[in-house]
Amino acid sequence: MSTALRFAAKHGNKVWLDETVGRLQNEIDQLQLAGSLVVPKDPGGWWHQYVCPHHHTELLFDESCVDASEFHCPHGCVIEGEAYQGAWLVFKHQSLARVALQAAAVYAAQGEKRYAELSKRLLVEYAEQFPLYPVHPEAQSWMLKGRAFHQALTEAIWSTTLIRAYLLLRDEGIAFEAREQVAIDVFLGLLSESMEEYRHVLIHERNNAENNYTAWLNASLSCVYAARGEQAELEALIEGQGGFIHHLSIGVKPDQFEFEGSTYYHVFVLRAYLIAAEMAQRFGIDLYATTGAEGQSMHGMLQALADLADDQGALPALHDGPLARGPYAREIAEIAEQGLAIYGIAGLAPVLREAYRQLGAAGDEQLEALLYGADRTAADGEPRGSRLWPDAGFVIGRVAGNPLSFLADFGEHGGSHGHYDKLHLTLMHQAQTLTPDLGMVPYGSTMRRSWFAETASHNTVSLGGLSQAPHEGRCMHYEATETSVYAWLQSTGSYEGCTMNRHLLLTEDWLLDWFQVELAGDEPQPIEWWMHPIVAPDVAQQTLTEAAPYRMFVAEKAGDETMLKEHQLPILGQFVPDEGVDAIGAGQLQLTYGLNGGSSGVTPLESSGVSGVSGVLGTSSTPSTPSTSGASSTSNTLRSSSTSGNVTTASVFHTALVQPGDEVIAVQTPGDAIDPSCSLMAILHRRHDRKADFIHVYRAGSAVQLSQPSEHDIWITVPNHPQGAVHVQLTKDKGLQIL
Ligand SMILES: [Zn+2]
Ligand SMILES: [Zn+2]
Repeated sequence: MSTALRFAAKHGNKVWLDETVGRLQNEIDQLQLAGSLVVPKDPGGWWHQYVCPHHHTELLFDESCVDASEFHCPHGCVIEGEAYQGAWLVFKHQSLARVALQAAAVYAAQGEKRYAELSKRLLVEYAEQFPLYPVHPEAQSWMLKGRAFHQALTEAIWSTTLIRAYLLLRDEGIAFEAREQVAIDVFLGLLSESMEEYRHVLIHERNNAENNYTAWLNASLSCVYAARGEQAELEALIEGQGGFIHHLSIGVKPDQFEFEGSTYYHVFVLRAYLIAAEMAQRFGIDLYATTGAEGQSMHGMLQALADLADDQGALPALHDGPLARGPYAREIAEIAEQGLAIYGIAGLAPVLREAYRQLGAAGDEQLEALLYGADRTAADGEPRGSRLWPDAGFVIGRVAGNPLSFLADFGEHGGSHGHYDKLHLTLMHQAQTLTPDLGMVPYGSTMRRSWFAETASHNTVSLGGLSQAPHEGRCMHYEATETSVYAWLQSTGSYEGCTMNRHLLLTEDWLLDWFQVELAGDEPQPIEWWMHPIVAPDVAQQTLTEAAPYRMFVAEKAGDETMLKEHQLPILGQFVPDEGVDAIGAGQLQLTYGLNGGSSGVTPLESSGVSGVSGVLGTSSTPSTPSTSGASSTSNTLRSSSTSGNVTTASVFHTALVQPGDEVIAVQTPGDAIDPSCSLMAILHRRHDRKADFIHVYRAGSAVQLSQPSEHDIWITVPNHPQGAVHVQLTKDKGLQIL
């Protein structure tokens, strides 16, 4: 029995089912009406090229187009060229494979023959076309090039969608004529040959079995074996080197996070695992409870996502990966539906809701629900606590009663998908994440290296405009109780002779962030503490006249040599603290952020037509990106919470101690990875010295007062609060202590 029918039989919620099926049917009808369901004769290229070279936003894709030779940026640029065409074709091929699956699912649910016929037609056309796609003339096995796509990886993903459609049709008793079956058998044969070959290259020649590619080659092969009824082959694949169990053991850390420390690749690999498990289940082999050598499991990986999401259900963009985009939201929906249905992980309900919201389908289930969905009555589950991922190197702090929570990163660099972001802090409020990791642009954009991977784009510390070295930090101390959580994170590998200690203490009332930097040697350096809020603070700001821009230096490879290339960011003004009153002479700076609600400020991706972000002013202004901002721009492109048109639903109050000699300035930076051309305003707290203490406190509801009677002691006071002042001391061996 097919998945879809099993679902209907199990839950029998006719109304829900009819509505979803009706919507999916309508989508297919529209595409058919537009005449857009035609298999292109050209193979797909690399989707990461699908990005505007001027604005660095992803180009728009309309699946109802039959063919396209010019491509549109959300800001109106019209782009042409082979690379863009190739990228467009990737989306087109994937969209058609999805239509084949969607039509099969609609047929399975309501039995209208024309949907089965459509699905079958697309399948057979692809099967017939597949041998005709040119293998790239310079294709070498080490490049892992595909046939229908530039990359074997894309081909593997696409093939799983098509083969799932094929299996669903067969389950529903749809017969294939001899001619059609021959074409499909040839397609499956070619596919398995190349997938087996790529596996050999990855696992045996490159000794790189843990690669996320391997999981997808396994998934594609599992689909082929299921389609051909080859149980022995599938069993060998599951048990063998680089197979399901081995990959789970080496591609996922014991704390259940994918080894690259990227949320996106975690989801990516998990989805491949779930497809492989679905194929195994067809032979009665249960992989859903299978564990890796150190206890790694799909259940654990799904639970990690439930724990990692913010209160709106949005997943943080740790390391490489988009902040939000349609195809990614679909992937999240597919695995979250299964996490709920198979494992009953209630914490995935908000993640699923947010994925559908980003798809512009708030409250409306899509194909993923029809294929994998469970009963929709599941509650969101228990309030979530703090969690440390000791192997991946992440920590989340949550305390019941405090709307603020935090996420910090101290782990391994993360290979080619890592960012120079050690000790990064994401500050979250229940209503909205205030300082997210800004995500990653498609890899075809120059800003991948020049901004989004760099230290200055993260909420951590850089020295003198240079990014940190790729390195691994450590967690010195982690303690979570009912009323507080304390994480002490340390990094000694960011710069030579530089020791960074970040102390994060979250109580029921506030979050203290004490970031201490110490340099060995006698040479003072600019020590730079960054914070990138996605809403601009409300604060009186002293404008600097003719301020020199902030200079950052990005490593660029030219042949064998690495050169440092200078980029400039305009400085917009200086924040002025109250005059210093305490023993040390530190002043106090107060900032407030008005939150709009809605996670990460991300508007639904498909309803707006523009994958923009709410609350953006002056979208017609010249983009100001590190690569184009030689001349400092003063145009007002800053997002401001007070003028965005959205209702402020909550506020975060930020109090900083500003030591004599410190300065706190506003720097104009690129926007988030969805639209880097919509500038943001970063807060740069810096000091030219051999040592720095950046002491910041955040609170919801109202501001705290800070004072510092001595170097290692601070008092945190909430005015009119019964608790009175809290004395916090920083000690060498035990870190922060509440006295
Ligand atoms: Zn553009
Ligand atoms: Zn990042």
